[in-house]
Amino acid sequence: MTELNNSQQVCVVVGASHAGSLLAVQLRKEGWAGRIILIGAEAHFPYHRPPLSKTVLAGDKSIAEIALRPHNLYTESAVELRLGQRVESLNLQEKAVVLASGELVVYDKLALCTGARVRKLGLGEGLRGVHYLRTADDVTAIRAELIPAKKAVIIGGGYIGLETAAVLTQLGLQVTVLEAAERLLQRVTSVALSEYFQHLHAIHRVKIVTRAHVTRIDGDDSVKAVICADGSEYPADIVIVGIGVIPETRLAEAAGLEVVNGIMVDEYARTSAPDVFAAGDCTWHPNAFYGYHLRLESVQNALDQSRVAAANIAGKQLVYDALPWFWSDQYGIKLLSAGLLSGYDDSLVRGDRLNADAKGFSVFYFKDRKMIAADCVNRAKEFIACKRLITERLDLNMQALADDASAPDTFALA
Ligand SMILES: Cc1cc2nc3c(=O)[nH]c(=O)nc-3n(C[C@H](O)[C@H](O)[C@H](O)COP(=O)(O)OP(=O)(O)OC[C@H]3O[C@@H](n4cnc5c(N)ncnc54)[C@H](O)[C@@H]3O)c2cc1C
Repeated sequence: MTELNNSQQVCVVVGASHAGSLLAVQLRKEGWAGRIILIGAEAHFPYHRPPLSKTVLAGDKSIAEIALRPHNLYTESAVELRLGQRVESLNLQEKAVVLASGELVVYDKLALCTGARVRKLGLGEGLRGVHYLRTADDVTAIRAELIPAKKAVIIGGGYIGLETAAVLTQLGLQVTVLEAAERLLQRVTSVALSEYFQHLHAIHRVKIVTRAHVTRIDGDDSVKAVICADGSEYPADIVIVGIGVIPETRLAEAAGLEVVNGIMVDEYARTSAPDVFAAGDCTWHPNAFYGYHLRLESVQNALDQSRVAAANIAGKQLVYDALPWFWSDQYGIKLLSAGLLSGYDDSLVRGDRLNADAKGFSVFYFKDRKMIAADCVNRAKEFIACKRLITERLDLNMQALADDASAPDTFALA
């Protein structure tokens, strides 16, 4: 560990989840000798968020079992944890953050890792049984109301909605997914994958309704039904809304930082203000591989970007150039997605998509004869091979890609 000349300095990290928690401990590894204060609004020790719609919702794991890192690691790294405390505003002139209590915490370097918050539907507010799923407390509240044989309506057919549907149907609830778009996962993936997931959920008795525009959620104290624009009505004992997230940029915006669809950062994770960095779901950042700015909602991005921010806060010049990747678990099936498919001009399905058993299948996406993205269902080796094909822009052996019997190490032309 190199000792830097920052022993009198303070780094304040706002947001104690995937990005903030890693940034804090990584900063110490980078040789930061001063104080590190990690402030998080949630009262729980930093935890893995993805299991909330998977093993935790299913009741297979508790919140305590999904801690991001052992509690003593923060003490060992001399990271001062301030949980259950919300930062209300930033004072960039005084270099301080202001807590809800009015306390000022001064910084020399500041990292904003404020993530995202759920997009609200604006219907059924205050009705018992209407939920969103973002935090540990959300999933605890949902689980308290899960009784088998009840009717669940999920509003939103994105990954979180579908993972939730998979868990609830397996717990014995009657599940309907209402999706406003023409197909499931329309915002994030191809028709081939949408059809696969539609088929998979149908096999598990989940009713999927697309082009469903929810206009009302009815009930007295508790929710009773979800009503769509065409008059169709779906009885519900519990409703879970999963219609996306909004980057949590309120602190940054109020302080006058540049915000687009997220807090604007450069490839070094620096915001538009001196000594202020940002990482994770809250950022609008350049992607070296695709050549444009984007916002990602993924653990991969939160971790890779916070590593870059930590290094640069400690005085290095590290550039963020990671390939985006993502996973989803539904019914014991693992989807691994590498890259972003936007702008693809050709695609190829390898394996039998609609009769996929444990053997799985993959969908490859190409642009100008190079692979730009891949969705691999139960095919981890192909996912790893594709990440390399994409990042190194390798020439492709199309015959090997198309032939399901060929090994992933033959995908690139020799
Ligand atoms: C149910 C669910 C399932 C998911 N599944 C997957 C998956 O399978 N794969 C995948 O890659 N990604 C998945 N994701 C997305 C992934 O969890 C996020 O990309 C990741 O959590 C982003 O981490 P982050 O630290 O940037 O932000 P967040 O996890 O959103 O954390 C931000 C933290 O900042 C805190 N905060 C915000 N404002 C303040 C403030 N003013 N003061 C103090 N604290 C503040 C918040 O309370 C929060 O704890 C899932 C997300 C959810 C909700």
